[in-house]
Amino acid sequence: MLRRARPEILQVNVGKLCNLTCVHCHVNAGPKRKEIMTRETIDRILGWLAKTDVPTVDLTGGAPEMIPDFRYFIGRVKKLRPPRHVIDRCNLTILRETGYQDLSKFLATNNVEIIASMPCYSPKNVNAQRGEGVFEDSIGALRLLNSLGYGINPKLPLHLVYNPVGASLPPLQAKLEADYKRELAAQFGIVFNKLYTITNLPIGRFASYLRQNNKLDDYMRLLIDAFNPATIDGLMCRNTISIGWRGEVYDCDFNQQLGMQWSADGEGKPLFVWDIDPDSLEGREIMTGDHCFGCTAGAGSSCGGAISSLS
Ligand code: SF4
Ligand code: SF4
Repeated sequence: MLRRARPEILQVNVGKLCNLTCVHCHVNAGPKRKEIMTRETIDRILGWLAKTDVPTVDLTGGAPEMIPDFRYFIGRVKKLRPPRHVIDRCNLTILRETGYQDLSKFLATNNVEIIASMPCYSPKNVNAQRGEGVFEDSIGALRLLNSLGYGINPKLPLHLVYNPVGASLPPLQAKLEADYKRELAAQFGIVFNKLYTITNLPIGRFASYLRQNNKLDDYMRLLIDAFNPATIDGLMCRNTISIGWRGEVYDCDFNQQLGMQWSADGEGKPLFVWDIDPDSLEGREIMTGDHCFGCTAGAGSSCGGAISSLS
């Protein structure tokens, strides 16, 4: 049984709209998805947040930048007291799409931390997982971010995210980070702060891919055999509240994609973030499932990368 600690991160999944359709996507996001957060929902979340001292707001999607009120949301969070730190989980390519070219400056002006997907430092693997041309666009976006001080100025952190291309566990984070830093600097003159290795969880589009290739059972066995108890204390569900595009609450973004929503009455009546008392969350039981073995395998996996130095 897993139980919550004090909430430190409000992770807001603002919707499933995305400019890409990656093979490993656990959200099944894409350009045709219609589910996006409205301003009314954003205002209700902000009202709740203002009454808490939760220090970090972590925006994810889809491509969170694509919702019409993305800048409004960040602008309002930045006005809250005590001050809050904002993270944008960015697929990089959106920063080069028509209509979004000034977005990187907006992010820099507001000291938004960027955690960006970059599954490899070579074009072949990135394009295979994320689509043709994504590597080149990602390199262009990283250069743009570096030119604004991202990855260089301590107020503008730039972290990259690696996830395996196929049905395997990520390699050791520290070693891979050194490889990324060396190769991206030597080949493209790019710098960044940290590399986070994240395990693909067997849900969403990645589960369909495994099923279609008869690899789902083998992948589950791999995860279960690699169970590492040293990861438990650092699981992100312990200190993160995950909310969906309608403001509904989950233990993590994976549970969100599986519809494992918190209930107001234990019988399915949905619970929204504005209905919860943040002081009541410590000790609350976390809803778990077989997919959780993805977070506890090997060195572990969270939104901040590996959890344990063991592997
Ligand atoms: S993995 Fe990220 S960038 Fe790729 S389709 Fe899903 S939300 Fe979009
Ligand atoms: S999937 Fe991972 S983060 Fe989510 S509840 Fe399970 S262990 Fe926690």
